[in-house]
Amino acid sequence: MKKFLDEFKEFALKGNVMDMAIGVIIGAAFGNIITALTENVINPLIGCIGNPEVTGFVIPLIKGQEINLGALITAIINFLLMALVLFMVIKAMNKAMSIGKKKEEEAAPTTKKCPYCQSEIDIKATKCPHCTSEV
Ligand SMILES: [Zn+2]
Repeated sequence: MKKFLDEFKEFALKGNVMDMAIGVIIGAAFGNIITALTENVINPLIGCIGNPEVTGFVIPLIKGQEINLGALITAIINFLLMALVLFMVIKAMNKAMSIGKKKEEEAAPTTKKCPYCQSEIDIKATKCPHCTSEV
């Protein structure tokens, strides 16, 4: 039993599991925001243009059954908004990461240019290996 607990502790405290848990929690909270946005902002706006209420867009069938197209449209709008926002977040993150990489490269150059012959020489060199000038 102790071995089982140790294994579980190791699994639960691994960085990627914690990251995943945080991701799931943030994702769920984010989903709530998107749902609230669709229900309170997007749907009324669509209602102004066309159907009076998107969620009330129902096709009645026999035996009291009905097709709730409004709910489907709302779900699709939710999905598209979520995908759009996630796409923008990932794009921004990629950009931020590439900026970090560029700065790293600029911060640690390994070569410099000889002012006399324009050759690439080692950053620590005091004499150019190409034209033997002092640099
Ligand atoms: Zn040189």
